[in-house]
Formats: sequence, structure tokens, C-alpha cells
Amino acid sequence: MISFEFFPPKTAEGAVKLAAARQRLYAHRPAFCSVTYGAGGSTQDGTLQTVRAIRAEGMTAAPHLSCVGAGRASIAALLRQYLDEGIDRIVALRGDLPSGYGLGGEFHHAADLVAFIREQTGDAFHIEVAAYPEVHPQARSPQDDLTHFAQKMRAGANSAITQYFFNADAYFRFRDDAYAAGIEAPIVPGIMPITSASQLLRFSDMCGAEVPRWIRLRLQSFGDDRAAITAFGREVVAALCRRLLDGGAPGLHIYTLNQADPALALLEDLGARSA
Ligand code: FAD
Repeated sequence: MISFEFFPPKTAEGAVKLAAARQRLYAHRPAFCSVTYGAGGSTQDGTLQTVRAIRAEGMTAAPHLSCVGAGRASIAALLRQYLDEGIDRIVALRGDLPSGYGLGGEFHHAADLVAFIREQTGDAFHIEVAAYPEVHPQARSPQDDLTHFAQKMRAGANSAITQYFFNADAYFRFRDDAYAAGIEAPIVPGIMPITSASQLLRFSDMCGAEVPRWIRLRLQSFGDDRAAITAFGREVVAALCRRLLDGGAPGLHIYTLNQADPALALLEDLGARSA
């Protein structure tokens, strides 16, 4: 099972490029395509427009929805709009407000949002939530984070997508611990293709994903040689995905960053196994 993640383009040109990328990716018949949502609703319109475009192309689309800083009434209205438009899949998140904003609003954790969606809309949505094999950066401990993840699943989530990682053992350990805690729902690895050293290191710092030292040093040693970075990244990420699928991962959710080529190269490397 393959799914793709996009972000709402900021310009008309970006929207045209993304539409072209999507057409190429659809050849892999994704189970769904998800569209990110800016904290505090900053991309609300862009998320909805991109979701509409995906649905008009005959694909299943899942808007991300972050609840931090939001009120119950605004989330309820958005859920109703999604249902009216026939959207039946959602990625439910807490989100992050810019530093200094605290955690205001009526929702404090993603579990509150999941429970609210179920309360308001019953089983109308398939709900995905986020999982962190390398532990969420704000968690007090791995055990605490697992407990909160389990609460979020029990609040009514159907499946989970992980933050990206490059260490398959972190995923297996997290999945096995979650299953031991009674979670039976699929936990799908989120996969970040490697195409740029600086971008990857910047993103990873922000979201608490670890780039292992050997990968970081090698990437840095390639300097501006994009071809070398792409070739190395392709090899590393394909090997990671093979290990994950061999170890029973139920699918792959690819963070496309709105680019078709890296995801297509990965799927080509994996051949029929990812279908
Ligand atoms: P939560 O599940 O609420 O967890 C956040 C932290 O709170 C964790 O440390 C957890 O252990 C702790 N916690 C949970 N419950 C409790 C409790 N009851 N008491 C005390 N502590 C608790 N961000 C966006 O803004 N837009 C997006 O579109 C987006 N998409 C994402 C997609 C995926 C697949 C992933 C993995 C992340 C995405 N994010 C997105 C980032 C996400 O919003 C951040 O990682 C955010 O910091 C946490 O969101 P969450 O839903 O995992 O929060």
C-alpha cells in the first residue's frame, strides 16, 4: 500500500507543477494522497483546494487537520464542510504553533481532536494519526510517548503514519511496543526520499528526526554534487524500505515534497513489492 503526501502550493505556478507531479505518481495507484495543513489553519484554503483537485482527478484525498490554537466550533464547521464535499479520510494532528504562542485553544493533544471528530461525525472519517518511532521531541520519555500514542489510537484512530526516520530498528521497536500495548491498527512508515543534504538536515533538526552520523557525513562530503547526493540517497532509502517491507511494514507513506522524481525512483527500485 502506497500513499503520497503533498503540501498546498503557494503560487499558481506551484499548483501547475504539483498537478503534473501528481499525474506521474498516480501510475502507482496510491491508496490515498494526503495534504498538509499549516498550524493555526494558515493553509486551510490551500489544503482544501489541493484536496479538491486530487478528488477531481479521481483519487482519494486526505486533508491533514491540526487542532492546536483552534476552537471546537471552527473544527466542527470544517468537518461538516469536508463531509459535504464527500471527503472521508483525515490525518488528525495536534500541530505546532510558532514558539511563544504556547498551546492555546480548546484542543491540547491530537487525542482530543480524534475524540472530537468521532463525537461529531461518528464513523464518517477514516482517521490517521502521527507516530514517532524516534520519540516525539516534546515527550518526557519514550514510555510516556507510547502511552499517549496508545491513547490517541484508542480515542478512535484507524491507522497511523510515522514521522520519517532512517533507522529501521526504531520503527520495529516502536511498532512491536505499540502492538504489545494492545494497538492492532496499521502503523505505516513515513518515508523521506533524500535529495538535498542541507534541506534534509534542516528539516530533521526541526522535527526531531535523526539523520545517522554516517549518512550525514557522507551527504556533507558530496558538497554541491547533486547527482552524487541523489544516487546515495536513493540507495539508502530503497534499502531502508526493503527492510521495512521485509519486516512486515503494512505500506509506505512517501513525503513527496511535491516532487515526483524522487518518489518514482524509489518505487522503481522497490519494483512490484510496493504495489
Ligand atoms: P500529539 O499526539 O498530541 O503529541 C504531541 C506531544 O504531546 C507528544 O510529545 C506526546 O507524547 C504529548 N502528549 C500527547 N498526549 C498527552 C497528554 N495527554 N498529556 C501530556 N502529553 C501528551 N504538522 C502540521 O502543522 N501540519 C501538518 O499537516 C502535519 N502533518 C504531519 C503528518 C505526519 C505523518 C506527522 C508524523 C507529523 C505531521 N505534523 C504536521 C507535525 C505534528 O503536528 C507535530 O509533530 C506536532 O508536534 C505533534 O503532533 P501530534 O499530532 O503527533 O501530537
